[in-house]
Amino acid sequence: MSTTSTPATTNQQSFDRARGILPGGVNSPVRAFGSVGGTPRFYVKASGSYVTDVEGRSYIDLVNSWGPAILGHAHPEVIDAVQQAASRGLGFGASTPAETELAELVRARISVGGVTPIERLRLVSTGTEATMTAIRLARGATGRRLLVKFAGHYHGHSDGLLAEAGSGLATLSLPGSAGVTAETAAQTLVIEYNNIAALEQVFAENGHDIAAIIFEAAAANMGVVPPQPGFNEAMVRIAHEHGALAISDEVLTGFRVDPAGYWGLDARGDAGGARWVPDLFTFGKVIGGGLPLAALGGSARIMELLAPLGPVYQAGTLSGNPVAVAAGLATLRLADDAVYSRLNQVADTLSRETSAALTAEGVEHVVQHAGNLFSFAFSATAPLTFAEVKAQQGYRYAPFFHSMLEAGVSLPPSVFEAWFVSAAHDDGVVSKIVDALPAAAKAAAAA
Ligand code: PMP
Repeated sequence: MSTTSTPATTNQQSFDRARGILPGGVNSPVRAFGSVGGTPRFYVKASGSYVTDVEGRSYIDLVNSWGPAILGHAHPEVIDAVQQAASRGLGFGASTPAETELAELVRARISVGGVTPIERLRLVSTGTEATMTAIRLARGATGRRLLVKFAGHYHGHSDGLLAEAGSGLATLSLPGSAGVTAETAAQTLVIEYNNIAALEQVFAENGHDIAAIIFEAAAANMGVVPPQPGFNEAMVRIAHEHGALAISDEVLTGFRVDPAGYWGLDARGDAGGARWVPDLFTFGKVIGGGLPLAALGGSARIMELLAPLGPVYQAGTLSGNPVAVAAGLATLRLADDAVYSRLNQVADTLSRETSAALTAEGVEHVVQHAGNLFSFAFSATAPLTFAEVKAQQGYRYAPFFHSMLEAGVSLPPSVFEAWFVSAAHDDGVVSKIVDALPAAAKAAAAA
């Protein structure tokens, strides 16, 4: 018996067909346009600053694969590196010299002001694996049970990390996930972000039993909410005073906001030195240049507790996959100072122009930055916590989003996500985005 398949031709047909086989028509929830409504676009290719859908329509992309594409899509030198790696074999299930090269490059990059917080690195395939392993490692290193996280921070979808998480859970208003046992959930203590008193209290009450605190170096999964000055420093100090480890999740910020991530940006900042040094870092997104690759790293003392040297087990068939490593190496090698200054410039212009357009229409808003990551909150004052983020006039985002999409600009389909720029956004592309803003601001004002 032969089966025929009719090629989908419109986004709607593609979505309808997908819903017949993929739950919700997607393989990751936010892609379903749940909070903005309408038909998700189904893409067939991407190049530079554009993505193209099944209908042949191109959009200027401000999602950039949710972060990895800092050079823009399909950078020729990255594609060349990937093709060369692929032609030598898709995976060996054994070590390759390129994995060591990539790890050494990461160690050198995450070294600022004479501080080298990463002595050893392990490559995994997703950010979820990186944070999950970092937590296991922290428990293995301390012999303790509890984990502290912040409401609104997202660290992937492992069981212990879904309580009051940002990203898709915020978009869908989910407090956590079904399928996580009460016992597991009880081992995660969720506290308010940017609140030092809450930190002091949770450690005063449970300090002897806390293995680690995990945090986004700058929150960017509830929209962008940077840490208040001195907050990360206080957090790491308090954790260390109680013998707990500090795990800085830089899956999203790492290699995007600075060559050394948010930690590097801060360490190079006003004070000109590292005032806080996490015990473990997690990376994803940019480190794989768009292919599945992530990592965790830290001191040799802690990292060498991992198998095969130590008792903390972690493994992966696809870990350090040679094609993904080639994409990551090529991307990081190309991401020089000129790339970061372009990312900063594009982010500055877009955030300023968007804010001006909203102001012109009388739409109450604030723009929040973490380096070149930014987002808007429809509120009168800058939200510092998840509760404040959720209290904004979020309903204004859907009409804003759809007006931009109609004009050919693809924004993140949720007010709780950051906007991602790339170095491929040239001045012509930026001015096309700017041209689309007044109508979108009008739509937000009318909501
Ligand atoms: N941590 C952070 C800060 C993230 O932003 C994400 C993904 N957006 C993750 C972890 C999980 O990464 P992944 O989706 O690759 O599992």
